[in-house]
Amino acid sequence: MAHDASFNPFEMAREQFDKIADLIGLDQGTRELLRSPLREFHFSIPVRMDDGKVKVFQGFRVQHNDARGPCKGGIRFHPQETIDTVRALSMWMTWKCAVADIPLGGGKGGVICDPHNLSAREQEAICRGWVRQLSRNVGPVSDVPAPDVMTSPQHMLWMLDEYEHINGGHYPGMITGKPVGMGGSLGRTEATGYGVIYCLREALAEKGIKAADTTASVQGFGNVAQYAIELYHELGGKTVCVSSWDQGDQTTYAFYRESGIDLTELQGITDRFGGIDKAKAKDLGYEVLPGGDWLDREVDILLPSAIENQITGENVGRISAKVKIIAEGANGPTTPEADAVLEKNGVFVIPDFLANAGGVTCSYFEQVQCNMNYFWPKEEVLDKLDKQMTMAYHSISELAAKQKIYMRDAAYVVAINRVAAACGDRGWV
Ligand code: GLU
Repeated sequence: MAHDASFNPFEMAREQFDKIADLIGLDQGTRELLRSPLREFHFSIPVRMDDGKVKVFQGFRVQHNDARGPCKGGIRFHPQETIDTVRALSMWMTWKCAVADIPLGGGKGGVICDPHNLSAREQEAICRGWVRQLSRNVGPVSDVPAPDVMTSPQHMLWMLDEYEHINGGHYPGMITGKPVGMGGSLGRTEATGYGVIYCLREALAEKGIKAADTTASVQGFGNVAQYAIELYHELGGKTVCVSSWDQGDQTTYAFYRESGIDLTELQGITDRFGGIDKAKAKDLGYEVLPGGDWLDREVDILLPSAIENQITGENVGRISAKVKIIAEGANGPTTPEADAVLEKNGVFVIPDFLANAGGVTCSYFEQVQCNMNYFWPKEEVLDKLDKQMTMAYHSISELAAKQKIYMRDAAYVVAINRVAAACGDRGWV
């Protein structure tokens, strides 16, 4: 499903927050503080394009809350980026860092642009321009960016280089998701997708279900989806469907094969944005269906791993009665209307800011390694990541079971309580 211009993610993030603020009886001052970002930056980035003309791109950074530590969160390059999307994502980052119990707050950035249509030089100019506008407002002790949709380790390195150029020194903790060997952490690329599956593994164990007896359908085929599928297959699971964005047709398609998808084979016909070549997929025996069909497959597990607003009041009824678990690799894929239906139907949802917290948790490890200037082997990084995610998962699932509340609500209760306590302890509220 493509972007829906009438959908406002910030309204959704606030609706989710208000529900739990009521539930836990949050005081008026803290509620008002946490409903809005602390700070936001809107700016223009002029870029001389390859054809000699200047194009001005719109950039954003939103710092939702830093009571628990410096703001943290990715930068998204997307043609449909809006300030309210960035606001929502920054708020979700605050909850994500709190649930993962890492000493960071929530931020998010974006640029309205489509990297599909930009040369490497033009993208570099956008990255450097973004940092020039924000050089006083981001940094290792204030706000630490990272990759998100359509941004890569290379983008992070250009941004770091510009920051270090301006500040005259090496500040590798200014940004995470950097290339390995240039201040990046081993395992960071895998971290978000793997983290989703660590949570799924724990949920399956709680329910007494063997991964090898399950099938899954995945929305998206970018970084998160590909590594989630990799680890899910290692556990013995079978993915029968993935969907991806088709840049040429400006729509999504679902690639379905009942006998199971072959990850390496599909990666071989996928571009760097996760777009799968549909003609080649047909030759390999995949059925190419409308993109929305990823949702109505007869599977046990759904892994929405693309963007927000994908499981909605309108399409939630299409989900098969067979589906037991939804693990959200994307941020904000499920709307509150859809949540109400899933909760009623007893679907076990591992909410986004828990399920996909592996990325930012590994970013935190990357900062720690940069501060020591000593880098850990991949096994050590992934082992620490697994422990942190498993602990975060159980703190939420135990609360959900004890209070008999929906998993998303339990995650919100934990996150909001932690952030509210930090604001209170600091004397802000
Ligand atoms: N953009 C990722 C997210 O939404 C990662 C953020 C980070 O590593 O700081 O969680």
